[in-house]
Amino acid sequence: MDCIFCKIVSREIPSKIVHETERLIVIEDINPQAPTHLLLIPKTHYLTILDCDDREVLAELLDTARKIARDVGVAKKGFRLVVNTNEEGGQEILHLHMHLLGGKVLSGRMG
Ligand code: AMP
Ligand code: ZN
Repeated sequence: MDCIFCKIVSREIPSKIVHETERLIVIEDINPQAPTHLLLIPKTHYLTILDCDDREVLAELLDTARKIARDVGVAKKGFRLVVNTNEEGGQEILHLHMHLLGGKVLSGRMG
């Protein structure tokens, strides 16, 4: 499948993988918007969060984000989790992923 995140999951395209679980990988964003900018990517190809009905994947996204936030040291000061969805939501890559941003005071703008 011609999907950049599927290719990252299968190691066809290199990335900086910082964590891996049964159902997802966590990589460094190639164009970071904050000192910590990680992407949590399910290994299964779901176009958007609307297409994922697997509650174990959904739970693992949140559980892993909480763990990684603590592990990389942004939990206490604060961080942001973002799931851009479809065109007006700003989703550029149509393979479900969650952004974990932190390490600075994040913009207050949400839209
Ligand atoms: P979104 O706009 O929510 O679809 O976010 C896509 C994100 O993927 C952006 O923050 C990009 O910088 C990031 N990205 C695109 N290509 C790569 C890549 N090869 N490795 C890591 N991150 C990438
Ligand atoms: Zn994919």
